[in-house]
Amino acid sequence: MKGWLARGGLRRRLLLAHLLTIAAGAITLLGVALLLAPGLHDRLMIAWLGPHWAATADDSMIEMERATNAIFTVAMAQALAISSGAAILVAVVVSLAASRRIAQPLERLLIAAQRIAAGHYRERAPVQGDYELARLAAQFNTMAAALEDAEQRRVALIGDVAHELRTPLATIAGYVEGMLDGVVEPDDGTWALVLDEVNRLRRLAGDLQELSRVEAGQVALRLTAIAPAALSAAAVARLAPQFAEKGVALHIQVPADLPLVNADLDRALQVLINLLGNALHYTPAGGDVTVQAMQADDAVQWVVRDTGIGIAAEHLPHLFERFYRVDKARARATGGAGIGLTICKALVELHGGRIWATSAGPGQGATFAFTLPLFHRHE
Ligand code: ADP
Repeated sequence: MKGWLARGGLRRRLLLAHLLTIAAGAITLLGVALLLAPGLHDRLMIAWLGPHWAATADDSMIEMERATNAIFTVAMAQALAISSGAAILVAVVVSLAASRRIAQPLERLLIAAQRIAAGHYRERAPVQGDYELARLAAQFNTMAAALEDAEQRRVALIGDVAHELRTPLATIAGYVEGMLDGVVEPDDGTWALVLDEVNRLRRLAGDLQELSRVEAGQVALRLTAIAPAALSAAAVARLAPQFAEKGVALHIQVPADLPLVNADLDRALQVLINLLGNALHYTPAGGDVTVQAMQADDAVQWVVRDTGIGIAAEHLPHLFERFYRVDKARARATGGAGIGLTICKALVELHGGRIWATSAGPGQGATFAFTLPLFHRHE
């Protein structure tokens, strides 16, 4: 029996459960009917013949009453037994259909789960069955899609990292081989170029480590009440020399009386400095960069606006993705790996804020904005 059940799985167990239920019902029906029927029969007879009929009746009438009672009981037992048999038959048919309706979608779901566990992330379960089963399948498919997406991102990340490593390594190998072959002079200039590439690799390793820590939620924010004006001034002070050196004007428009934000000072500074650094990077000499802050609902919104090279609309949705660079060749030459904005986004979202970019197009400058939530006294 155990083996039969295990082999048939859910469908056989459901069938057996239905059969047991109907059998218990039939036995109860039969037992209770047989127990009550004679008494009820007697009461009805008395009601029909009158309470004193036994006193006036002769032996043959009493004999007759007993006989009808016995016949009635047997007839009723037979009728009940036959109808119980018929009920069990009908129950088997209905139960077979019902258990198939429940078991089939679940079996399909099981197969899909097994295939996903074996690495087939494209697998989806058919959304069928009754309301809850269909919802379960739809939810399962959402989970499968998330897994597939995570897997694709993992594969893409490995490819991107390999790609990012290859270029500086090839350059370093080129210089070293050149020096070994005597084609390149092993002078200070060459070593400086080699060091540049080594530093690029080091920066990449640092950025990747930072990104993985932030994305894994391993960065613990030390949240405090921070004045937007102080935060903005600190970021501006940090980059002012580089702006002056390049000849890009840096304007700051942050009212001193903005409400405090609830943020980690170092991390918030990191975001603002990154955006200001990008603005400086992509704005030619003679241009302007403005940092503004204003209250927006339950947050303070920072806006870093530049008059630089701008961004075409098709790139805007991708800027915050890992390794995304608008002009790959140019960005590689100037050092960016396309991770800075990804880290900024993760940090801002860790604070509960939002970050986004707008631009009227190439040559029209770019605007980056982010929000940090307001500080509330009870926090
Ligand atoms: P990177 O380290 O390459 O600068 P980011 O993640 O900081 O990486 O930026 C991603 C890309 O977004 C950059 O390669 C650049 O193409 C574009 N970008 C960022 N900031 C600006 C800006 N202020 N103006 C124009 N393009 C920008």
